Amino acid sequence: MAETIKTIGIVLKSSKHTIDAARLLDIFSPELGRFSAVIRGVEKPKAKLAIASQPFCFGEFMLSERNGFYTVTDCFVQDSFFSISQNLDSYVLGCSLLEMADKIVQAGESNYEIFMLLLSSLKAIAYDGVDPTIVVIKYIMDLLRISGFGFDIATCDVCSKSLKNEKRAAIVYTGNGAVCLSHAKNGEALDISPAEWDALKSIRFQSLTELQSVSIPAKVLSSCLSIAAKQFYYRVGEKIQSLSTRLK
Ligand SMILES: [Zn+2]
Repeated sequence: MAETIKTIGIVLKSSKHTIDAARLLDIFSPELGRFSAVIRGVEKPKAKLAIASQPFCFGEFMLSERNGFYTVTDCFVQDSFFSISQNLDSYVLGCSLLEMADKIVQAGESNYEIFMLLLSSLKAIAYDGVDPTIVVIKYIMDLLRISGFGFDIATCDVCSKSLKNEKRAAIVYTGNGAVCLSHAKNGEALDISPAEWDALKSIRFQSLTELQSVSIPAKVLSSCLSIAAKQFYYRVGEKIQSLSTRLK
């Protein structure tokens, strides 16, 4: 017999499915981790659950489980984050948040911290007016730190001294990812400009609420996004596909 499960979740990915106007969803639930579920009939016109089959949809999902396969039977949508898809830039950056969660979160592994990180990042883009590039850079840093991939620019990887008040530092792709200037070896450390270092620190040490009033020049942000995405690639071993147009 099928078992009925109720869980909150965010749709990370939605792809075509071969059977009766259905779609296959990747959903991230704080209790269940990442899982796939079929949602039927949503390709039909005026389908009641169409909105629940879209990426970004956050809601309470009713699932029927049989032999490890999930079907969405109903969804009480709490937010579709509609405004994120109204602007190409925020849409691309918003999609990268979903993609990274999809790559990091394990199936069947509960993870409240990453769920709340994703939810608060989506809200910051949709409602709080935080620059979406700033949100994504902070998200990469927080995601890599929380999930144990070790990127944290707070201290020097060699001498452990705090880098919070350092005017310059270097980025490396091993250890925690940053070293003080006296431990930056030629050729090993990626040299970043004082403006880029300042921006990375500001994003690392301030909350999303504080970052509402922070404005950083687009060019500096663009380099910081490349640095963060490169850290993701070196540590997780996968490229963030949805950022490919932004990282040229
Ligand atoms: Zn040092």
